[in-house]
Amino acid sequence: MGSSAEKKAQTPENFTDIKIKAPSQNSVGFDALKSSVTHVLKYTKPLDAIKASLKMNQKGGFDCPGCAWPDPDDERSSIGEYCENGIKAMTEEMQNKLINREFFANHSVDELAELSDFEIGKSGRLSEPMYLPEGATHYQPISWEDAFNKVATHLNALENPDEAVFYTSGRTTNEAAFLYQLFVREFGTSNLPDCSNMCHEASGSALSETLGIGKGSVTLDDLYKAELVMVVGQNPGTNHPRMLSALEKCKNNGGKIITVNPLPEAGLISFTNPQSFLGLLKGGTKLTDVFVPITINGDVAFFKALLIKLLEKEEDIGEVFDLDFIKEYTHGFDDFILDLKTYDFDECLQAAGISEAVFNEAFELILKKNKIIICWAMGLTQHQNAVDNIRELVNLLLLKGSIGKEGAGTCPVRGHSNVQGDRTVGIWEAAPQAFLDKIESKYGFKPKSQHGYSVIDTVKAMNEGKVKVFFGMGGNFISAVPDTTYSAIGMSKCDLTVHVSTKLNRSHLVTGKEALILPCLGRTEKDYQKTGVQVQSVENSMGVVSSTKGILEPCSSDLMSEVAVVCGIANATLKSRTKIKWLNYKDDYNLVRDDIQEVIEGFEDYNNRLKQPSGFYLPNGARERQFKTNTGKANFSINKLPEWTLKDDELIMMTIRSHDQFNTTIYGLNDRYRGIFNERRIIFMNRDDMASRNLKDQQVVHLQSEFNGDIRQAKNFKVVGYDIPKNCCATYFPETNVLVPIDSFAHTAKTPASKSVVVRVIANTAN
Ligand code: SF4
Repeated sequence: MGSSAEKKAQTPENFTDIKIKAPSQNSVGFDALKSSVTHVLKYTKPLDAIKASLKMNQKGGFDCPGCAWPDPDDERSSIGEYCENGIKAMTEEMQNKLINREFFANHSVDELAELSDFEIGKSGRLSEPMYLPEGATHYQPISWEDAFNKVATHLNALENPDEAVFYTSGRTTNEAAFLYQLFVREFGTSNLPDCSNMCHEASGSALSETLGIGKGSVTLDDLYKAELVMVVGQNPGTNHPRMLSALEKCKNNGGKIITVNPLPEAGLISFTNPQSFLGLLKGGTKLTDVFVPITINGDVAFFKALLIKLLEKEEDIGEVFDLDFIKEYTHGFDDFILDLKTYDFDECLQAAGISEAVFNEAFELILKKNKIIICWAMGLTQHQNAVDNIRELVNLLLLKGSIGKEGAGTCPVRGHSNVQGDRTVGIWEAAPQAFLDKIESKYGFKPKSQHGYSVIDTVKAMNEGKVKVFFGMGGNFISAVPDTTYSAIGMSKCDLTVHVSTKLNRSHLVTGKEALILPCLGRTEKDYQKTGVQVQSVENSMGVVSSTKGILEPCSSDLMSEVAVVCGIANATLKSRTKIKWLNYKDDYNLVRDDIQEVIEGFEDYNNRLKQPSGFYLPNGARERQFKTNTGKANFSINKLPEWTLKDDELIMMTIRSHDQFNTTIYGLNDRYRGIFNERRIIFMNRDDMASRNLKDQQVVHLQSEFNGDIRQAKNFKVVGYDIPKNCCATYFPETNVLVPIDSFAHTAKTPASKSVVVRVIANTAN
């Protein structure tokens, strides 16, 4: 009898050998170079890594498999258009070890689950398809044909197509994603949850309602030209490092930066551009002009306080609001102002947890600027009131007329490299009817119009026994989702779980009765098909679609591209009932793009425009002040202050990433900027909160969350005193996902509220 799914889903609770230093006040520079080189030397063939790094994010090269930060439209650096974490993402998929049948014969699933996430990821590249039969302890090899037939047999045996779920991570290219959703819809379900459901779904929801497009409105050039950039709930130094160069350019052009975050992050304090000799000599550019150390979930309160004071100034001296813009382009201004007048400034300030002095500094900057960009990430989107957070910042931009003009607008910074593109080409459990109608007229079948499962719905449906087949196109579902124990139990109820992956991850170890691992090509690798090496495409955070083409030989001859996997499974499953010639697509990806341009607006002449060295911009109404909302205008919205209180022994916890991490991928055990080395089981606490609980630095504690009467527990964390607002604490994702209740999510958007979990810290009396 093997370990339970719940146990296998958990990261091991043991400690490594922690070292703590003072947090950095500067980012990148020599240390980033050193860390990148160390990684390359340790985990890859260095010559291949040099060759690949010269092509990463270059025109005609391949897109970084890390985040979705855009590349410059014009000149790109010939030294390297990447960051430390881009190099780590690249080396991760270029590992010099291979995992094959011997590896799996030597290690049972239970044994592998005992490893840390870091160790699992560093086991090497998957190199052949593997199958875990029911009751087996070890994966064993399977041919591609048998694997496709196995998936087909399970899918065709379902009573209803809705008993299958097809998840997508944001790495999948436009071509693979479009075909994947097409297959799923022809198979008969809309169950297409994706990683967006867990990150920027709240942004999409708020922006669609207020500005008519669920994406940001700015370009990279706007960032350079902004008078003021507000970076809210985001840590670009770790999660989108090249954003720091854009912020530096903005500063050099005279722009100002306000950072709003519970933690002071080194990347936003100061940045040393490793490509600038002068920068290296001078020791960095100070980025943040005003740091607002907001309490967790204090964002609506902070924005409301700003709005109240702006209104006072407008009524007092005028010329604060852009009244022409408001009159011509917006809707709901009067109701918004009426509601705003019902709030008390002091109460808002108190709820935001900041001093009046800090507020005033930020306010003075905002008051005088009219070209404002607000950037944000999951610090805003992973709360129950996440949609309100974003709607409220849009209110500020609307008052200032800071939408649809140079140097101004919305900038939700997306995580995984093609997460935005996947949604554009149809990976959406709630796709609009107009898109489904286009599919019907092009392919001659009627896609299901009823919405499918989001990630949260999927986990619940699994637990209710409604999901029999889980198919994951990339990603590490079990580590990414909230409520780890509950989610693992749900996953184990499936009959078949399938993962298309480049590397081993924890999701391969928390399986249904049977499981398949289908190894695919990485971004760096050449995709050989009948018509030659294929080009694919991706969309970055700013709506630019560009090509990506691998340059290295595949690490194994037994890998398939994601496109080929989809075509193979669709062909095996749908057989004569399909209306689509699936196998043609895999021979020539131009055919996929021909189809995309017929179905999706903005992709006209796709194949030709993809040949443009910098790709092409997709249409963006908000950028042009054409707001495709229910009113035809940009909508002001009315948002309430969130209502929550903490009991004396409670803290509000946010999950965060370490610097050696990208989403669920753990590159190493250090969090260099925060001064933490060789340990991830950490809780960052305010020192007053530690004192009031008699806790000392590095003391071992357990964490408990309570939600609707249910208690969840995560054991063994070391306390680290840190500069974090009182009553707040921070822990690493995914170690504390186990504490995030499945029912605590953003209203209307269902992003898990992983940034506002109420917890108790319990001293471990055993030590
Ligand atoms: S900023 Fe993001 S896309 Fe750019 S190199 Fe770094 S990880 Fe890759």
